[in-house]
Amino acid sequence: MAPSAVRDGSAPSPSAPVVVCESVVRIHRHGSIEVQALQGLDLSVERGEMIAVVGPSGAGKSTLLSILAGSDAPSAGRVRVDGWDLGGLSASGRVRYRRDVVGVVRQQTSRNLVAHLTAEENAAMPAALAGRGRKARRAHAVELLDRLGVGDCARRLPHEMSGGQQQRVALAVALANGPRVLLADEPTGELDTTTAHEILGALRTVSREDGVTVVVVTHDATVSDSVERTVAIRDGRTSSEVLRTFSDDGDGGSSVVAQEYAVMDRAGRVQVPREYRDALDLTRRVRLALEADHVSMWPDGGR
Ligand code: ADP
Repeated sequence: MAPSAVRDGSAPSPSAPVVVCESVVRIHRHGSIEVQALQGLDLSVERGEMIAVVGPSGAGKSTLLSILAGSDAPSAGRVRVDGWDLGGLSASGRVRYRRDVVGVVRQQTSRNLVAHLTAEENAAMPAALAGRGRKARRAHAVELLDRLGVGDCARRLPHEMSGGQQQRVALAVALANGPRVLLADEPTGELDTTTAHEILGALRTVSREDGVTVVVVTHDATVSDSVERTVAIRDGRTSSEVLRTFSDDGDGGSSVVAQEYAVMDRAGRVQVPREYRDALDLTRRVRLALEADHVSMWPDGGR
């Protein structure tokens, strides 16, 4: 249980978003040089939702994930995860948050596991760090490995498993303490397409069946095209979102309807996509008009 000092004394409402980022800024300072990795980022993710986060290199994706993981802190703005205020974590609160609230899976399969421990010992380690008894944590580790389809790897060392098996074990490690939020940084980056689909399926199961909120940073279209919401980050802000509706077409196949939205921040700022700006030569000044059900935008000097 988190201390009231960081949870502000109230349990989060079950219907409230689990992840809430408001105007988050992260500035890195090296001497006189400042880099703004996040520049007023807003994001909200519901309980049990699985989203993909995409964006060009340098957009701020890793910084966002590090903040949500509790390994970095925002310079300004508000970040709350399952009621924890990540801007005001004490050292001991940070340890508890990282141990109990979030699980993390990284791209490099080799970095997720301790090389000289078996799959079962790896999956039992988070519970050991949380002080749980040996028997209970072993049983839980075996159950998790079974559920993720790698029960047969329990006695194997990481180098005795394929990349896909290692990522499943990594998922078992990340889920060992029953986190509310699972953060995955390019979890399919080193895997072939078939194995990537399997890992994606495992992530989806975790979000749907266990109500775990899953945030996946990815360049992999296999991942971003198959979730219901993909959030694009550009220049340290959320710039657009794609919402997808999946439906069965009755012939055993399925169809998807995807709709892209620009994201408006609290001050009403919207990033107009570069291709729109280029196509109509929208530059410093544009003319806006309020219509009955939409807003029109013209280039400076337009009609
Ligand atoms: P992405 O994951 O989308 O590639 P990052 O979050 O890694 O983006 O980086 C966002 C920006 O912040 C980049 O300009 C990057 O160079 C800068 N940055 C990230 N971490 C540091 C750091 N520790 N020190 C200085 N600049 C950093």
